[in-house]
Amino acid sequence: MNLSQRQKKILEIVKECGPISGGEIASRLNVSRAALRPCLAILTMAGLLEARPRVGYTYAGKEAKNLFADYLRRFTVGEVKAVPAVIREDSSVYDAIVTLFVEDVGTLFVIDEEGFLQGALSRKDLLKAAIGGSDLLRIPVAVIMTRMPHLVTVEPDLDVVAAAKKIVDYQIDALPVVRTAEGDKLKVIGKITKTTLARLLAEVSS
Ligand code: ADP
Repeated sequence: MNLSQRQKKILEIVKECGPISGGEIASRLNVSRAALRPCLAILTMAGLLEARPRVGYTYAGKEAKNLFADYLRRFTVGEVKAVPAVIREDSSVYDAIVTLFVEDVGTLFVIDEEGFLQGALSRKDLLKAAIGGSDLLRIPVAVIMTRMPHLVTVEPDLDVVAAAKKIVDYQIDALPVVRTAEGDKLKVIGKITKTTLARLLAEVSS
């Protein structure tokens, strides 16, 4: 919500001095009560001010930043997740590089023959292997991947702000969205990446 200079000043006064009467706000701003009425009505309707009879105006709103964070937190990982690209742990590094291009992704998740999550492969993991001079057709991805239990994962009911924090805190590009299948084994049911989060931001802001 775009506030006028006068509306911003009213909010500052109420935050600092509330509860405060309309007349008092008007005298602090050097304007008439009548001139203030439309602004007070807008701020009250927007939920930023609360008008209590015989008490005055109090500040009821949250900072715009908090409102936006609250709004974003309503989206869960399960709602915004994208389709993950997966590869079997016995595949070669060469196959992983080809898959990275074919699937047009930056991270591959590695699964075993039963489909359980075993690891993750990033672009730089593959680059490192490629400049190492070894035979890429012969090294299985299991040798170079980041493996369980070191993977950072998220569950579908987590909110997207918490997922974004994990991406920032662990300095990684992608999180596998998982569901516990057998014991503590995990099935990959999606992914949250920097692109997923950028897309969500673009969608909610347009
Ligand atoms: P890049 O290595 O291309 O910069 P990342 O920042 O995503 O991409 O990966 C950094 C390292 O973290 C890599 O070694 C990668 O295997 C590992 N990694 C990638 N995703 C995860 C994850 N979800 N949990 C733990 N480690 C990960």
